[in-house]
Amino acid sequence: MAVDALGMPFYSSRHPTGSYRWVKLFGLGNPGNSRGMFERLEDARLRVAAFDWLSAQVDVYGDSLSRSILAEGFEFQGQRVPLLGPQGIFKPAAMALPLSITTSPNSPYNDAFGADGLLHYRYRGTDPDHRDNRGLRFTMEERLPLVYFHGLVPGRYFATWPVYVAGDSPELLAFSIAVDDASHAAVPRKLPGEVAEGTDARRRYVTSLTRRRLHQRAFRERVLEAYRHQCALCRLRHDELLDAAHIIPDAEPEGEPVVRNGLALCGLHHLAYDRFFISVRPDYVIEVRPDVLEEHDGPTLRYAIQGLHGSLISLPRQHEHLPSIEHLTTRHVRFLELANVR
Ligand SMILES: [Zn+2]
Repeated sequence: MAVDALGMPFYSSRHPTGSYRWVKLFGLGNPGNSRGMFERLEDARLRVAAFDWLSAQVDVYGDSLSRSILAEGFEFQGQRVPLLGPQGIFKPAAMALPLSITTSPNSPYNDAFGADGLLHYRYRGTDPDHRDNRGLRFTMEERLPLVYFHGLVPGRYFATWPVYVAGDSPELLAFSIAVDDASHAAVPRKLPGEVAEGTDARRRYVTSLTRRRLHQRAFRERVLEAYRHQCALCRLRHDELLDAAHIIPDAEPEGEPVVRNGLALCGLHHLAYDRFFISVRPDYVIEVRPDVLEEHDGPTLRYAIQGLHGSLISLPRQHEHLPSIEHLTTRHVRFLELANVR
């Protein structure tokens, strides 16, 4: 089969798959003729441009993006291309088929990963034939890559792409969605029906990694919000430099990704906390390890580490977000054991 520079297959008359539907469902020209091919190429170019633009945003802001940036989108050949809209299944005006799917942070289906390891994405409404549902189904048949936005907290979204619609369950009014590796974001090279060997296993694996990243991001956003986006130790206020540290590490059964097991810390203090240079006592007072306290070094050690000894951390305003006394105690006991050995 012939493939053009963008990897779009040229459908010959022997492979009319999809062409009829492009015409019938979306009023598009037949891909077999020049107008239809032009529309397919336009769709592919816009999709690739959207992925490139998202990559650039993630490089600057990290993979938790503000809704306003995504709703504003980018300009492509004089047309504005937003990345998401008010509905979950989103198709920019400039495109023929959906570009993104979004789970709102308030959605009751917020964490919809099924036992099959795939994300279950609800239809729009209950009509399988609703235009949005048909559009998404069509991206499945055409194997077109999409972006998935997962609402972390109101106004902030975790972005992942490419994702593919892997299955359709009208009885559940849901699609199943697989996340793939970015290196496989190319537009389809296979005809529907052909599945590359290993693709399914790879997508399940990448989907499970994404699920994990998504939970970590959600944890970070909730902790940062609880601490008003500042380091609990030094009050630094730049989100780009802030992390959500676990009080009990997440590798342990108690190390749940909940606000009460978190502290918003800047990069330096996160590392210093993880490496037991610093501890937060159950009464919220900062303690610096005695041997570190006695060291002589430059201003970073003096002001950013030693200078914290004996002061109180800044705490979340809401009582239910306060760090768990039990977790702080467990962690501080470990710190004392280590401090006594040194
Ligand atoms: Zn700090």
